[in-house]
Amino acid sequence: MYASVQTQLRQTLDEIRSAGLYKQERLLASPQSAHIRAEGSGDVLNFCANNYLGLADHPDVVAAAKQALDDWGFGMASVRFICGTQTQHTVLEQRLSRLLGTEATILFSSCFDANGGVFEVLLDERDVVISDELNHASIIDGIRLCKAQRRRYRNRDLDDLRAQLEASTDARRRMIVTDGVFSMDGYLAPLDEICALADEFDALVLVDDSHAVGFVGATGGGTPEHFGVRERVDIVTGTLGKALGGASGGYVSARAEIVELLRQRARPYLFSNAVAPSVVAGSLAALDIVAGSDAARAALRENTALFRSRMAAEGFDVLRGEHPICPVMFGDARRAASIADRMLADGIYVIAFSFPVVPRDRARIRVQLSAAHSAEDVERCVAAFVSARAAEAA
Ligand SMILES: *Cc1c(COP(=O)(O)O)cnc(C)c1O
Repeated sequence: MYASVQTQLRQTLDEIRSAGLYKQERLLASPQSAHIRAEGSGDVLNFCANNYLGLADHPDVVAAAKQALDDWGFGMASVRFICGTQTQHTVLEQRLSRLLGTEATILFSSCFDANGGVFEVLLDERDVVISDELNHASIIDGIRLCKAQRRRYRNRDLDDLRAQLEASTDARRRMIVTDGVFSMDGYLAPLDEICALADEFDALVLVDDSHAVGFVGATGGGTPEHFGVRERVDIVTGTLGKALGGASGGYVSARAEIVELLRQRARPYLFSNAVAPSVVAGSLAALDIVAGSDAARAALRENTALFRSRMAAEGFDVLRGEHPICPVMFGDARRAASIADRMLADGIYVIAFSFPVVPRDRARIRVQLSAAHSAEDVERCVAAFVSARAAEAA
């Protein structure tokens, strides 16, 4: 039986390769950080992690995770509702609620799971879900799992969102769903205006704030804090796998009844293991750092501003904004890829993105700044862009 399937699978793999879409994993031989060791490339400066606050190998986070192995053991070997809830799981949920200004929070194994569970519990065939076209894959999949009528609006396009809302006024519930930050562009969703429309049409608002919580907003409360709409956003989903230590785990943070119902009905919560004790403890330490001082956020802001202004001065086309996702636009896919290759040879690790991840002729190198970078690191990255461009032209 397998022989014929094998032929088919090999053919599919060949198609992926010949389309230039085959993803090769780079092997790291070091912890995740600003400075990493990459197999085959040696010591390089890393500008493509979601390690925004530099907490992935922060000594306080690592120490808390180590201590938790002694205090709480290695694994839970249970889902939450049977015997998988330690007191620290509930503390972490409370601490996330405090950071986000929400009533309650429920942990999941990942944000992918959080988004996989939230829609089915809240929406059925009587309802309409209205989703930004550039929302994360986990939102798309989560929406597929619910029976609500689906509508898409053009990225951050309020006129189109209004049109979709107008077309769905006979639904029992309407839910607007958006990423807080769009990861390929670093653009923020206009939550103030989205919430105003939600008020007008009596719609729920869900924001996936994975690329914002911890560093966007005055206290790291994310895009709802940045736009002053924390009271109006009904549901925030997010990850512990980016700024907040970067290990794993996700959450839904929302109004009390929503979280209470998710604990009863969300399938990835009911049928998947509890977050590991050392990850819970490390994430709590990360939240201490986020809540305790503005230092990491300030360093991230300064590095982002430095990179953006130096790149503009060197004549590169960087999509505008203030987010540490800085897309350097090249248009042509081969050019972006060859610049990234040259930069890696120069000790700077960046990734080029092209179709189908971004539109055709909008190929780019996505640089992500971190609080762990020094000003000198940022200058080295800019210098590598300049010399790669010069080598291209030669
Ligand atoms: C990274 C990301 C996720 C997935 O988070 P995990 O916890 O790694 O599953 C979901 N949504 C968005 C918008 C993300 O950026």
